[in-house]
Order: sequence, then C-alpha cells, then structure tokens
Amino acid sequence: MKITVLGFWGGYPYKGEGTTSYLVQSEDFSLLLDAGSSTLIRLEEKLDPLTLDAVLLTHYHHDHIADLGVLQYLRQLKPTTPVEELNIYGHTENEDKFKELTMPGISKGIAYQEHDTLEIGPFLITFKRTIHPVPCFATRIVEKKTGKVFVFTADTGYLDGLSDFCQKADLLITDTYFLEGNENHKAHLTTKETGELAKEANVSQVVISHLNQSLALEDVLSQTQYYAEDIPVQLAKINLTITL
Ligand SMILES: [Zn+2]
Ligand SMILES: [Zn+2]
Repeated sequence: MKITVLGFWGGYPYKGEGTTSYLVQSEDFSLLLDAGSSTLIRLEEKLDPLTLDAVLLTHYHHDHIADLGVLQYLRQLKPTTPVEELNIYGHTENEDKFKELTMPGISKGIAYQEHDTLEIGPFLITFKRTIHPVPCFATRIVEKKTGKVFVFTADTGYLDGLSDFCQKADLLITDTYFLEGNENHKAHLTTKETGELAKEANVSQVVISHLNQSLALEDVLSQTQYYAEDIPVQLAKINLTITL
C-alpha cells in the first residue's frame, strides 16, 4: 500500500499548499481519502483524475471536501466518452451534504455507518466516530493482500478508545493542530496527545498532519516526538510518499 500526501494544512490552504487529502494506492487501485483544497492540482501530477477508483470522506468540513465539486465537474466535462460513476463514500448524518455526493452519470454517494466494514477494492475499511463539532470518522484501512494497516485519525479531539482503534498501525496519520497545553480540545489533538496515542497504540510510525499555519512546525514535531519516544514521527508535506 502506498500513501501520498496531497494536502496537509488545517482549515485553509497556505503558501501554495492545500488542505487534507491523501492518495491511497494498492496494485492498480487509487482511493482518494478526503478532498481538500488543491487536491485536484496535486492529483493530476500523479495520475489522470478520471482513473481514480473511489473517494472516501471522513466528514464534510470545507477543508476536507473543497475540491470534491471540481472533481465532479472534471468527470462531467473532460471525458470524450462516458465515464463510469465514481463511488464517493460518506456518512449520512448530514443529509444535504451526502446528497451532493451523487451527480447522476458522474458520481454516486455510498453511505457508511460507524460499525460497517467496507470493502473498497483491495482495502477493508473500518471507522470510529471522533470528537469534533460535526460528525466525523477516523478510518482504519487494511490492505487485504498484505494485512498492512494505515490509520487516519481524521479531525478529532482526544477520545477514549482511539488508541485501540489505532493499535499496531504500520502508519498513523494524525490531526495535530495544537501544541502541548491545549489538551482535551473539542476538535483537534495536541502534540502531547498525538505522541501518547502513538505510544499507547504501539504504531510503527507517525505522520503529523492537519497542521496549524500559526505554529513553528519544528516545535510541533519535537514535542510530538518527545511523547512518542522511540516511534519515528515526521511532519506531513506535499508529495510525501510512504510505502507499507
Ligand atoms: Zn479539518
Ligand atoms: Zn473538521
């Protein structure tokens, strides 16, 4: 399984770099995990967006879906022959937003619930509801062929049971928006919480993401690394690719 960072800032794009989006690939299958601003521009550098196989959305905040509409327009306007509908997986707890995933002939919204196990191409995917101002779900993505595990916390404050959900992940990508001292926030993790989560879950490596434009990123990294102890931590950056 190969994971590529297409966007990593929290809330809004910054200095030419976009918000949350990851490309998750296995064999010939390409899954887009969230579709933040500038996703499409970054995606085009990797593959023809028409060849994308599926999209999975953790929640409907703009910094995670900003480029979804233009992805639908691309599929509507670019092809010279009709395309298959693109499967876009999302929760149904905001009905209006879920309806927008479907554009007949272009894309089809497919509902997931917290306790579902979805089989999407080469992946098995499970969910955990997070602490966030709107319904949001962390995702645990297992590559069927190898058993490799990639967990994405999505947007979340600290929550009991998250370390069980992240247990022994080969890669953990987190929403690390605050420095130590802001623990138990209602929307995002701190460096300390991220480091402790990684340690408790015994993950192999951590990428800290959903980064905060107003912070010194070297401090975000060093604080997280301190609490993660011997588990390697790195900052998300555009085109960072990790192969599991
Ligand atoms: Zn966000
Ligand atoms: Zn959010």
